[in-house]
Amino acid sequence: SSAIEIRNLTKRYNDLTILDDISFSIEPSEFIVFLGPSGCGKSTLLRMIAGLESISDGEIWMDQNRLDVLPPGKRDVSMVFQNYALYPHMTVEDNMAFGLKNIGTDPDVIRTRIKSAAEMLEMTHLLKRKPAELSGGQRQRVAIGRAIVREPKAFLFDEPLSNLDAALRGRTRIELAQLHQRVKATMIFVTHDQVEAMTLADRIVVLNNTRIEQIGTPIDIYQRP
Ligand code: ADP
Ligand code: ADP
Repeated sequence: SSAIEIRNLTKRYNDLTILDDISFSIEPSEFIVFLGPSGCGKSTLLRMIAGLESISDGEIWMDQNRLDVLPPGKRDVSMVFQNYALYPHMTVEDNMAFGLKNIGTDPDVIRTRIKSAAEMLEMTHLLKRKPAELSGGQRQRVAIGRAIVREPKAFLFDEPLSNLDAALRGRTRIELAQLHQRVKATMIFVTHDQVEAMTLADRIVVLNNTRIEQIGTPIDIYQRP
């Protein structure tokens, strides 16, 4: 788990300002949701934390260190994408192992972590399959499993439930809440769905029109007179 600080962050594409001088901090182990209408810059903000998007101005800090100066692979975060982003030619097991192999993790450690994550997500029976042989919900579990085995300080979720049907979305939401209880990592979750935000978040950052419109607990935000 980790404290993350966003300091005076600005994002521009050419003349268009997407995010304008945004500042806030995230507590260690906090479950933070970025909420706002489509196109307000939630995903861009998450991708800047992951290092997948350049920043125009400002800084991002993690535990007293500059995060934004590190390449994506050196940031202690794992991202789960809306479209899963699995390697189609690899088995589930190899998809989960890939990132760890790249950073030279001991093969025994990799095996142990995959076994434990697969048990947690009840997907041990899927390990030898390829993504094309899985349902959408199963693919999303693999994507979550692949993030878990990295044991990151922070998980970054980019609308991970929006491609799932309603029943599965509800179930996966509960599983993400349980995952948070269990691993006690910092979680940053992007959504445009108020119900997801209310049920998952410790605090919600409401983005609108390049700025933070509101920041607070679900009760602060939804029960204010
Ligand atoms: P959200 O996640 O809130 O739906 P995004 O962060 O995906 O919003 O996008 C924010 C805005 O930035 C949108 O208006 C989008 O069209 C624009 N945008 C995203 N990526 C680029 C890009 N590479 N070039 C220009 N504009 C972009
Ligand atoms: P999301 O599903 O997160 O909203 P989009 O479908 O809006 O993502 O965008 C997919 C990709 O296209 C992203 O990499 C984003 O940065 C890029 N993109 C989005 N809007 C624009 C834009 N107006 N101009 C150029 N690239 C864009």
